[in-house]
Amino acid sequence: VKGTADIVVIGAGFAGAATAYHLTRLGVRDVLIVEQEDLPGRHASGRNAAMARQTGVPAAIAPLAREGAAFLRDPPTDLLPRPSYKGCGILLLDESRSARALHGAGWQAGLGVEWWERDEIVRRLPHLRDGAFGGGVYGRGDGVVDIAALLQGLLRAAQARGARLLTGLRVDRVASQNGRVSGVVLDDEVIASPRVVNAAGAWAGELARRSGAPPLGLVPMRRHLYVSAPLPWVDASWPIVWFASHGLYFRPEPPGLLLSPCDETPHAPGATAPDPLARAHLAEKVKRAAPALDGVALAREWACLRTLAPDGHFLLGRDPGLEGLFWCAGLGGHGMTVCAAAGRIAAEAVLGHPVPSAHAADLFHRAVLV
Ligand SMILES: Cc1cc2nc3c(=O)[nH]c(=O)nc-3n(C[C@H](O)[C@H](O)[C@H](O)COP(=O)(O)OP(=O)(O)OC[C@H]3O[C@@H](n4cnc5c(N)ncnc54)[C@H](O)[C@@H]3O)c2cc1C
Repeated sequence: VKGTADIVVIGAGFAGAATAYHLTRLGVRDVLIVEQEDLPGRHASGRNAAMARQTGVPAAIAPLAREGAAFLRDPPTDLLPRPSYKGCGILLLDESRSARALHGAGWQAGLGVEWWERDEIVRRLPHLRDGAFGGGVYGRGDGVVDIAALLQGLLRAAQARGARLLTGLRVDRVASQNGRVSGVVLDDEVIASPRVVNAAGAWAGELARRSGAPPLGLVPMRRHLYVSAPLPWVDASWPIVWFASHGLYFRPEPPGLLLSPCDETPHAPGATAPDPLARAHLAEKVKRAAPALDGVALAREWACLRTLAPDGHFLLGRDPGLEGLFWCAGLGGHGMTVCAAAGRIAAEAVLGHPVPSAHAADLFHRAVLV
């Protein structure tokens, strides 16, 4: 045994960083974050679409999305650098009537949503002129976040309060004795600790399996993102546009657009190379949903993993089988938005505050993610 810690957090993505942030806010000093990569943010937390989304998210996670979005709109002053937030809003378009239903639900929930008729949409967003939709729900509470600053801010705030961050070290497994966590086993050392948080993103299931805990059905799913070549007609203040029925979104990424075909392909944890077929998939969806964007040149592409539990549950809280093991995983396509809330719940669970166990996390999240 080379070291000890009160609490070890495995993974320095949004889940681990936010958990460490809240643990130290709640007064714990001896928190050790272990990250296998040379730098935090090499995976989903550094490669996502940066959209803070609360409009139209499944009802079961809406409270977390709302708490997370409020944190992002007005981050606490201990977050340095202060992550910028662009309150551009989101426009959810649909060919069916479900957008109307979303409008009603969002209005009832006090989300500051408006219904925009087709004419109004096309007046504001001329690139949607030939689009396949009747109207749409505009949610003004959604926006775009500087994700690199957010991740750094959470980690630095935790470190300023005493947390340590070890990079370039992989946890092989969580060690246990007599049904209790005793530490983590790295490739060539052991760190003794009575409490460990599994915030290992796409690796969370594998890590649990190697540690003798149930992997809880976590599946990493690959999704592609594209950035267009510069488009002089893009207005940086336009909202995020989401075609629910086509599974397609795009938003300004000055000087062009960022686009995703919302693909979902199971993939082993790890780095992901873009699949050339996904470009064709995107082109086909764009042609059908927003023909004015057909043929837009793409300058950059990448793919990364969203990790989902069955039915899209977030796994937050105490592992019911192994004492001392906690989860902040399975954040799917919402992990940036909800991280402040998910990290708070995980931290409170570690400290024994009454929150549901990992298996009861369906309290938070029963719906299927988009
Ligand atoms: C294409 C795409 C678009 C997305 N868009 C959005 C969006 O617009 N808005 C939104 O809210 N969310 C979005 N998401 C989801 C969001 O990015 C994720 O939910 C979130 O980043 C997950 O954070 P995490 O910390 O759980 O995982 P990760 O960011 O993957 O972090 C886990 C970390 O654990 C480390 N690790 C793993 N195993 C070990 C080990 N054994 N030892 C040490 N370290 C280990 C990994 O190296 C990694 O750094 C998107 C995701 C993708 C892929």
